[in-house]
Amino acid sequence: MEMLQKVLTPIRVGEVVLSNRMVMGAMHTRLETLDRPNERLAAFYAVRAKGEVGLILSGGFSPNPEGVMEEGGPLFNSPSQLEEHRVVTRAVHEANGKIILQILHAGRYAKVPECVAPSPGKARINTFSPREMSVEDIERTVSDFVRTAALAIEAGYDGVEIMGSEGYLLNEFTAERTNHRVDGYGGDCEGRIKFPLEVIRAVRECIGKRAILIYRISSIDLVEGGATGNEVAEFASKVEAAGADVINTGIGWHESAVPTIAATVPRAVWREAIRNVKSAVSIPVMASNRINTPQIAEELIASGVADLVSMARPLLADPDFAKKTRLGITDEINTCIACNQACLDRIFTERTATCLVNPRAGREIEFPDGRSTEPKRIAVVGGGPAGMSFAINAAERGHEITLYEADPELGGQLNLAKAVPGKAEFHEMLRYFRTRIDRLGVNVQLGVRASAEQIAAAAFDEVVVATGVRPRIPDLAGADHPKAVSYIDVLTRKVQIGQRVAIIGAGGIGFDVAEYLLGESRESLEATEFFRAWGVDPTNVKAGGLTALSEHTKAKRKVWMFQRKNEPLGKRLGKSTGWILKAKLRTAGVAMIPGAVYEAIDDSGLHYSVEGEKHLLEVDHVVLCAGQNSNRDLFERLTELGLSPLIIGGADVASELDALRAIEQATRLAVSL
Ligand code: NAP
Ligand code: SF4
Repeated sequence: MEMLQKVLTPIRVGEVVLSNRMVMGAMHTRLETLDRPNERLAAFYAVRAKGEVGLILSGGFSPNPEGVMEEGGPLFNSPSQLEEHRVVTRAVHEANGKIILQILHAGRYAKVPECVAPSPGKARINTFSPREMSVEDIERTVSDFVRTAALAIEAGYDGVEIMGSEGYLLNEFTAERTNHRVDGYGGDCEGRIKFPLEVIRAVRECIGKRAILIYRISSIDLVEGGATGNEVAEFASKVEAAGADVINTGIGWHESAVPTIAATVPRAVWREAIRNVKSAVSIPVMASNRINTPQIAEELIASGVADLVSMARPLLADPDFAKKTRLGITDEINTCIACNQACLDRIFTERTATCLVNPRAGREIEFPDGRSTEPKRIAVVGGGPAGMSFAINAAERGHEITLYEADPELGGQLNLAKAVPGKAEFHEMLRYFRTRIDRLGVNVQLGVRASAEQIAAAAFDEVVVATGVRPRIPDLAGADHPKAVSYIDVLTRKVQIGQRVAIIGAGGIGFDVAEYLLGESRESLEATEFFRAWGVDPTNVKAGGLTALSEHTKAKRKVWMFQRKNEPLGKRLGKSTGWILKAKLRTAGVAMIPGAVYEAIDDSGLHYSVEGEKHLLEVDHVVLCAGQNSNRDLFERLTELGLSPLIIGGADVASELDALRAIEQATRLAVSL
């Protein structure tokens, strides 16, 4: 049992006392605008309030139509919307929680033709060009913020957060990059911060002292023409004077070329920028970005970097994060692995957010809790993500589970993933699975390749086959040549790989293997190395916190990546993380060859052709990353014996197998039994 102190200490913010320092950060889930928004959204937040998080920040709602994130995006500007918000606030309050509405005007990031900005100039991440705001527009927008704040209080929110970071409208005013105005709202720092300060003062006046007012400041812009650390500190002190109760810290603009929250970003790496804000004010400061364990939260508070810690994705991953921290069972926290696969990547592709490690997130009403009325004896064969998820969820429902795993340890493909640079968070996923399996008393049989006959003889009530996948071996002359190796041999270090390497297959695993081969064999980058690799000045002395990109460490190997499809490699990688991988491999000089036809692997290397032209690539090894096939041998044998086994994960469908699908399928099956 691990008892943390600081993070559990109550804190006064304005006139309100929060029961602990853990805050669920704002995150747009798309539940706000999709089907039956109220019930789903209310259940989503209520479960987190029951999980004892000190405060919840809602996803951002625009104060006016030109500030919405996209056509039909969240907007709160009319009393007719009060009731749908009351459903949410009531549910949170009934669960003893507190919730704040975030007001977010997207400025030139708004994907609507009527978008506005301090000055003309399209954002590279938007197709629409903004109209320059007139002084009348600015005054009206202040009133719009005030109207939304008033509506929020009327709807029962405990306060509001004004979104002033990440490159949205208020941040666009504070930065020279986007503010070229020559009137009182531009020019020097004082002019550029005038509009955000007017918004804060007006909102404070409207909502009074009893409601919480948070301002989210951009603590480091990470774009050319951003603010310096001194300017951020000066602005922070004026935000306090203007009436904010808390300052939350944003990191980087959405158009920044520096990753800020992906798994490759070291945990709590932005501490200097946050400390800079804290040193300028006397009100509480909230840290954010890549804080995913209570221990890190504790350390940030104990070391004086911040007073509160905002965690959005970690609360998707485990709604009981705060409660488990209070109970001292932090090893049972289902940790966010910063993959973005089921949250941001789904939001960016117009689906509602959920979570890879917690498929209940955002679908709380689809996954009722409770125990089965008919407890069964169930065999689960395969201790990868599907088998482990099933075992946990079924055991929680009161079933008696025996879990067979042929390897000496649980984990399956996760044991491979954790070897990839930047994927160290997979250790946490394994720790969670193993701890829960242990505490739930699952009978784990390690190193046991259970035969169909053995399972049939044990007469289980149900048999769940989760035997996973086998790597696909391409139909290619020389696929069995000693130069041809599987990605498994590479990631488990079974083979000493040479200096010149070809990779066949450019899916997620092909990219992972390329990164692994380039020499970043350490599982997680150190902060200084991360800053150097991405050209970041963490002290923010230079505008925007950027510095010249230093020479990259010479790549350890020369790598060529191939695929048969005639399209750019990496096109199908996750939207929010694929660009990071591609940028790293580009910098390291990896050659990417689409439209390849593989002919043979022999002593000389890889023979292939592109558009009919034949080539020989002299390489030491060819790594086969050509996807997987289902391993259904056991399932078929059990069926032959007359059993009716259930099948999940890669054993069921191998194509584009991923942990997201495996865990969701396993969880849904477990709650159906
Ligand atoms: P994958 O994404 O399905 O990619 C398989 C690759 O092999 C493709 O590039 C495919 O391209 C090629 N291929 C397929 N059949 C082939 C054949 N017969 N001969 C030669 N090449 C062939 O599978 P994966 O890379 O093994 O990844 C599995 C899953 O793990 C992914 O779907 C992903 O969800 C997950 N994952 C994701 C990430 C990430 O996003 N960073 C990282 C690791 C794993 P062509 O058909 O064009 O040749
Ligand atoms: Fe975290 Fe991945 Fe879940 Fe998103 S999908 S909350 S990044 S674990």
